[in-house]
Amino acid sequence: MQLNAPLDMHLHLRDAEMLENIATGSAHTFSGAIIMPNLVPPVSTKAEVVAYKARIIKAIGNENFTPYMTLFFKPSYDKAFLESIRDEITAIKLYPAGITTNSEGGVNGFDVEELRPALEAMSDLSIPLCVHGETNGFVMDREAEFVSIYERLATAFPKLKIIMEHITTKESVEALDKYENLYATITIHHLLITLDDVAGGMLQPHLFCKPIAKRPEDKEALLKVALSAHPKVMFGSDSAPHPKHAKEACGCAAGVFTAPIALQLLAELFESNNASIEKLQAFISGNAQKIYNLIPSPKTVVLEKKPFKVPSDYNGVVPMFADIEIAYSIVEVK
Ligand SMILES: [Zn+2]
Repeated sequence: MQLNAPLDMHLHLRDAEMLENIATGSAHTFSGAIIMPNLVPPVSTKAEVVAYKARIIKAIGNENFTPYMTLFFKPSYDKAFLESIRDEITAIKLYPAGITTNSEGGVNGFDVEELRPALEAMSDLSIPLCVHGETNGFVMDREAEFVSIYERLATAFPKLKIIMEHITTKESVEALDKYENLYATITIHHLLITLDDVAGGMLQPHLFCKPIAKRPEDKEALLKVALSAHPKVMFGSDSAPHPKHAKEACGCAAGVFTAPIALQLLAELFESNNASIEKLQAFISGNAQKIYNLIPSPKTVVLEKKPFKVPSDYNGVVPMFADIEIAYSIVEVK
């Protein structure tokens, strides 16, 4: 099986030592990725975007990989500022305040008029808005509750491309077909696990993430649009590394680390569900190219149906399915 120019449309590469430890895990097998801006402090100026991109380029060494940079959304961004930074960024990421790792400076409330200057400028400049769509309600209901905010934004800014990041519910899947300007990324872990896998038996810290994995019917809804490569969905791993001690702790950090095994797991998932390689190719790259108007650098990843034992850690970061044998291996990247 060959995959061309895989793209990860939602990736956390972190910074400093963690960036050095995990960057090549994505850069080796993916052609490019949308890089999340939730560093401390968040990436919110041109100088910070340029400097962060340079640190990523340094960390990936000789790998042929494009970091598509994002900015941390602030309602105070005006058109002059966005014009000045347009060429450095691919999208802008909006976090509700305090909802996940390093999102304290995010948006409070979603008053359309308050957001209008920044979102209209983004719309005019064709800058997509990526959204972490969760309210601060009950943990299982946060994403479904946020759908009304997606609807409000999609209606108020009809020319703005809005990407519902890492969707986990049937409600978000349903919203896709109701609004022309709503798109979505889906992770591999939300296609494979439900809350039962996280907390149904002994607690599994390496499967704990935000948004938390949901119900079987939610997973089924996600599988339906992913396996059929619905043209408005794209793969985004939301691979979010934390050091082992921050996961295996009293007070476990949210995030699942999947980047180095994502393509192998997708190959297995699509094959076991009798979904074609063409559908997988669209989900892993083609749809994203169209939605974002990207031309990725060429890369071919050759996979074989050959058991691969997932390492117990990658430079101190424990991946999903550590020490478990999965069905596909990457045999060549060219
Ligand atoms: Zn994320």
